[in-house]
Amino acid sequence: MSKGECILKLDGVTKSYGPAGGEQVEVLKGIDLSINYGDSVAVVGPSGSGKSTLLNVMGTLDSPTAGFVFLDGEDVSALGDKALAAVRNRKIGFVFQLHHLLPQCTVMENVMVPTLVGVFDKDAHERALRLLDRVGLSHRLSHRPEQLSGGECQRVAVVRALINKPSLLLADEPTGSLDRHAAEALCQLLMDLNKDEETAIVMVTHSVALAENMGRVMEIEDGAFKKG
Ligand code: ADP
Ligand code: MG
Repeated sequence: MSKGECILKLDGVTKSYGPAGGEQVEVLKGIDLSINYGDSVAVVGPSGSGKSTLLNVMGTLDSPTAGFVFLDGEDVSALGDKALAAVRNRKIGFVFQLHHLLPQCTVMENVMVPTLVGVFDKDAHERALRLLDRVGLSHRLSHRPEQLSGGECQRVAVVRALINKPSLLLADEPTGSLDRHAAEALCQLLMDLNKDEETAIVMVTHSVALAENMGRVMEIEDGAFKKG
């Protein structure tokens, strides 16, 4: 994989919700999007405009009602649940507004969770140590989430998202529960990791200021990208 190659392509993606046979609400209205290796993209838009739905479809957590999702050239719209879970585990990292760390596990244990699925990677522990050092948490390996600040927990969540070397890191308002200082620091970290770890990043955010640091800003309104 080299810079400029397409990692993710959405082709005419729509998503509707509603009871079978009942009235459908179209939340995504024909999204075309291409994310290349090394890209950093911000998705902004008002609450309810479809940002999370879009990110979930991009991350194969949700399937489109119509249209296609290609990940590394593979049409994932055609895959079953089991195959999808495997692809997701290998190729995509997620960070959400809440860190969703396991409260009873240490920082190190939390970071290693995604490596417990699939083929055993003997280098994963080494990589965890390096990444935790990279985000300034090498002195917190045995701490539990409740012993960390909100910003520190999010940094652990970011490392957990990167542990399997995903081609794509998807972040849904990752700074949404942080104060301004911690939010800016986390964004800077994501931008640095986008370069160092050679992963594409798509971040949903409310903050135009944070979005402006990303390579590309895409504005969504009522389920479609604004032209501009
Ligand atoms: P955003 O992240 O931009 O705030 P969402 O993608 O969460 O927006 O939601 C977009 C719209 O889709 C909202 O009107 C929301 O109510 C609706 N929606 C999202 N998920 C579902 C669902 N599972 N069932 C029905 N409606 C949904
Ligand atoms: Mg949302």
